[in-house]
Order: sequence, then C-alpha cells, then structure tokens
Amino acid sequence: SMEPKLQLLRENVRTFPDFPKPGIQFRDICPILKSPPALTAAIDLFEERVRTMHPQVDLIVGLDARGFLFGPLLAQRLGIGFVPVRKKGKLPGTTVSTAYDLEYGRAELEIQEDAVAPAQKIIVIDDLLATGGTLCAACELLLRLQAQVLECLVLVELKDLRGAERLKPHAVFSLLQY
Ligand code: AMP
Repeated sequence: SMEPKLQLLRENVRTFPDFPKPGIQFRDICPILKSPPALTAAIDLFEERVRTMHPQVDLIVGLDARGFLFGPLLAQRLGIGFVPVRKKGKLPGTTVSTAYDLEYGRAELEIQEDAVAPAQKIIVIDDLLATGGTLCAACELLLRLQAQVLECLVLVELKDLRGAERLKPHAVFSLLQY
C-alpha cells in the first residue's frame, strides 16, 4: 500500500500562512528533504508510478528550482537522464524560451534546444502544482522541441486552483492534495 509512505510525506510538509504574501498558504517541502525516510518514500512513490504507468520514458525534465531537488534522484533510480528547465538567462548555447503569467507580472522559462530530441518521451517534475502556469509553460517548451510529455509529477497539488484543468491535455499525478 502507498498509505504509510504518503503518511510520512504528509507529516513532513509544513504550512506557513500568509507567505510570501497575505492569503497564501505556503506548503513547505523542505522537511521532506531533511528526512531520509520521507525523501526515500517520495522517490519510491514516483518511481513506482513511472515504472507501472510510463515504462517507455526516455528523460526526466525538472523545473527550476524545486523540481531540481527531486528530478535527478528519480532519474537516477530509473537509470535515465535528467534535463533542467531554467528561468531565463541561465542556460548557455541555443535555447527555446516561453513567457508565462505569474500572479504579479511575467516570467520566462528556458530549455537547451539540443537537450531533448523529437519524439522523446518525457516525464516532467516539480514540487507543487498551484495554478499550473509554470508546468504549462514547461510543457509548451517540450512541445516546441516535438517531444512527447507522458505525465507531470508533483509532490503537492493545490486542488482549489484547478491547475490540473489548465494542464490538459497533459496528465498530472500528485502525491499529496490540499
Ligand atoms: P503555478 O505556476 O501557479 O502552478 O505555481 C507553481 C510554482 O510556484 C511551484 O513551482 C511552487 O514551487 C510555487 N508555489 C505556488 N504556490 C505555492 C504554495 N502555496 N506553496 C508553495 N509553493 C508554491
């Protein structure tokens, strides 16, 4: 059963009201990183999901910055490579980028053009799904490189914000829901 591992994860997410601004309940996953059994549980559950549902996966793509904390661990477990999607201006060489809306203003995400080949099968990972704007932008970059997104993985999904709806037709798998 997944339940003991999920319980361990639940116990290691801290909620901070009104961070970074009033009205936001910040879900802090840092305690998961600090607890070896919790971090192992998270990667175990992601690994099981990918092995059972997406055994054909070629690459894990992780999002700047907290997707970098989990993505390489999962990729190593699966024996496949990891590719970062970064905030604009950090990656050398030829890149493709896309702008997306934040609550206040805009941001831009970027990937190296030669990092993913056409038709490669991708699992995208981040810590948390809120509005889905960030994961949507990452999927858009992968679409432009003609890759195939199999699924997006997150530790935490904030259900009220309906990010999964926004991500369609891409699927999302979350370990914890709030
Ligand atoms: P979004 O693009 O709205 O889905 O926002 C997703 C990104 O913002 C994730 O990479 C999270 O790290 C961060 N984020 C948004 N809302 C929260 C929250 N309530 N608690 C923690 N992180 C959040």
